[in-house]
Amino acid sequence: MKKKHLFWLLLPSYWILMVISILIVASYAFHSTKNLYFHTLESGILTRATLLSEQVAPLMEKNDFAAINSLCKRTGQTAKTRFTVILPDGRVIGDSDENPRDMEYHGNRPEIVRALNGETGMDSRYSRTVGVEMMYLAVPLADENREILCAVRASLPMNAIEGELDTLTRRIVIASLLTGILAMVVCIFVVRRITFPLRGMSSAARQFAEGDFHHRIPAQQALELDQLAESLNTMSDQLNKTLSTLSQQRNEQAAVLTSLDEGVVAIDKKERIIHMNRVAGDILGINHEDCKHLMVEQVVRFANLQEFIKSLLGSMKPNSRDLTLRGKTEKQIQASGTALLNDNGESIGALVVLRDVTQLRHLETVRSDFVANVSHELKTPITSIKGFVETLLSDDWEHDAETRRFLDIISQQAGRLNAIIDDLLTLSRLEQKDGVVMTSTSNLASTIESAIYLCQLHATKKNIQIEMICPPELELAVNAPLLEQALVNLIINAVKYSEPDKKVLVLAEKQHDKTIIYVKDEGFGIEHKHLDRLFERFYRVDTARSRKLGGTGLGLSIVKHIVQAHKGSIRVESKVGAGSTFIITLPSPIPDETPAINC
Ligand code: ADP
Repeated sequence: MKKKHLFWLLLPSYWILMVISILIVASYAFHSTKNLYFHTLESGILTRATLLSEQVAPLMEKNDFAAINSLCKRTGQTAKTRFTVILPDGRVIGDSDENPRDMEYHGNRPEIVRALNGETGMDSRYSRTVGVEMMYLAVPLADENREILCAVRASLPMNAIEGELDTLTRRIVIASLLTGILAMVVCIFVVRRITFPLRGMSSAARQFAEGDFHHRIPAQQALELDQLAESLNTMSDQLNKTLSTLSQQRNEQAAVLTSLDEGVVAIDKKERIIHMNRVAGDILGINHEDCKHLMVEQVVRFANLQEFIKSLLGSMKPNSRDLTLRGKTEKQIQASGTALLNDNGESIGALVVLRDVTQLRHLETVRSDFVANVSHELKTPITSIKGFVETLLSDDWEHDAETRRFLDIISQQAGRLNAIIDDLLTLSRLEQKDGVVMTSTSNLASTIESAIYLCQLHATKKNIQIEMICPPELELAVNAPLLEQALVNLIINAVKYSEPDKKVLVLAEKQHDKTIIYVKDEGFGIEHKHLDRLFERFYRVDTARSRKLGGTGLGLSIVKHIVQAHKGSIRVESKVGAGSTFIITLPSPIPDETPAINC
């Protein structure tokens, strides 16, 4: 619908209202004046007829019709009125204008009929005698016995009134037209006065909408308009403040996001990019400013990252994954995602944080390679040192007590060094396999049994009994030699860090989709403060005791690597003086290959 200006909506209504008002007033004035004219004329004729009838009365008593006729003629000339006297039989006996003898029967005239019945009769009609429209008024003349003697009629031509009425009509029309024109002009000013401030406010509101908050609407004369102007000004101030706050917050957020070392990508539920910071753009090899509102597929070219984002949007659960982005250069990234929530806590998409760990991974590889190479290089000399010392200690050689003591120390330290190198090589192998191990279905009871068997010698030396509780049918997809090594490490520790004559229990059970293995001892226990760091390389609770007992400080670290390579977890519960329990949780069934987990 075509919109009209308020001015053109109001003005016609005002004009129509004004025209109707003028028409009503003019027609009322016309009719009132016309009625007043008629009443004045009527009462004038009545007075004249009554006055004449009083003069006719004595002449009627004498039956002097000639005197009556001449009275009519005289009075008629003076009063400029036509007088007629009619007998009850309808005969005219006196007339101011005509000879009564030539006049026809008048008893049938409506005003005469009424007068002869004793009432005042009135009529207006065209007079054939005079040839104009006339107003007639007849009064009865009665004797003392109320017997009607005659009717006295006075009449005046109507053309005088009609002329007056025509003049009146003309004046009323002219006055109405002039009033109408004047009122129309006034209406234009009135409507302009109403619409002008509204136009001003509307253009001010437009300026506010365009962001010009310095514009002010001036005070208005009308109270309501003034209140509206004030409200609009206040609204503009509030809007200005809110927008400034929002823009400040946005700038702060942008500054925070820009200065982050991590790449941040916010994505809505329809997989459209809401925001991407510069670092994310650098990681993905695109200009972050061009990505807004584009679909993830248009922006992210890496299938594995696309798949990560899709799974994140599907589950809306926090998730993180190590990904390799293969482009011009290969990048290692750590992608972490979580649900993106609005102010009401409703999920509106996902937030993905990308960390470029290429350098870190490279350093880790360098370190791991270095450790592996050093270990390899050390392995040969240490093996020959061990071999030669053992040869020197054999019965084929004779040494004095001092030399033998030194050779014993060399043999012991070479053994320790050898054990450390073995453990380092094991760790390197686990790392070099990229945390992935081949698995096959194995019977858990036989794996535990063979681990216990390998530790039996140590246990027997300290008279420690190793017990096993495991359902014989329990099968698991594991790398059996590695799991066995992990169990050996735990059982050896349990034996090492216990007083003689204690017990060690290895218990395995299946709980839902998990298999849990407990290695429980009655040993020294570990203080709570050490538990968090226990699985770090070379971390020892009591370094001196560990060394004395031949520990390398790598046993638990190897256990953790093996468990994580099986996608499992390990934790420890311990009480000083009461013993420790190491608890391995393995998913069951375990997939053939498990992803890398770094520690
Ligand atoms: P180590 O070769 O020194 O035993 P580990 O990595 O196997 O190195 O163990 C780390 C440290 O944890 C040990 O030095 C020891 O202090 C503590 N520890 C490990 N197992 C036990 C246990 N069963 N009871 C008490 N302390 C333990």
